[in-house]
Amino acid sequence: MPAVFLGHGNPMNALDHNQYTEAWQNLAAELPRPRAILAVSAHWYVPGGRVTANEQPRTIHDFGGFPQELFEVQYPAPGSPELAARTRELLDPVDIAMDDGWGLDHGTWSILVHLYPGADVPVVQLGIDETLTAEQHYELGARLQPLRDEGVLILGSGNIVHNLHTYSWARHPIEPYDWAVRFESSVRELVDANDPGPVVRYETDLPDGELSAPTPDHFLPFLYTLAQRREDDAVAWKAGGFDGGSVSMLALRVG
Ligand code: ZN
Repeated sequence: MPAVFLGHGNPMNALDHNQYTEAWQNLAAELPRPRAILAVSAHWYVPGGRVTANEQPRTIHDFGGFPQELFEVQYPAPGSPELAARTRELLDPVDIAMDDGWGLDHGTWSILVHLYPGADVPVVQLGIDETLTAEQHYELGARLQPLRDEGVLILGSGNIVHNLHTYSWARHPIEPYDWAVRFESSVRELVDANDPGPVVRYETDLPDGELSAPTPDHFLPFLYTLAQRREDDAVAWKAGGFDGGSVSMLALRVG
């Protein structure tokens, strides 16, 4: 099973049909059908390790200031306590709590409504432990590789560049910022050269990291996907483009 990272961007993409959502649908169509999905969403960035263990995870509308229509979206995919337990086992001895308080947040469902609109593939979310370093997250991610052989789609959902302080909410398109383009290009080139080290150490090794990833939450899901790469895996970039000047919509397929 390949692994994928999607730039989710604006939650309104859940309702829209645009260049990004079209690219997501095309990506889903080229993948084998997964037995289950393990999602790492930027929007579950909390202290401590946890994984959703609910049989029926709820749809969480974790945002404000959007139209009522968006609050009415439901994504009733089943959970998979079995995949939650397997994830926990793979990450042992790092303590991962079986969580039944969370569910599916918009980082997960705003893209899954396009990838798997039938909501018929079980979904588990793995939280991002905010107390760990980027290197530690990359190492945790690599330990999930066996899931690929078990038919599980590992789905990172964030944005390689995500700066909402500079984001333009205006309806007219704006040119992406130079620093955003530079940072995204650096990441692309390093991944294409199969040199993940500086990407993992983006905070110190990549110029423009401070502006492009001012908080780690949207970048770390990318590292979980990147960590699935094996020797013989090809990578392919999908979607792409910038939203609001400072949110990269670039997606990656590994394998
Ligand atoms: Zn987000």
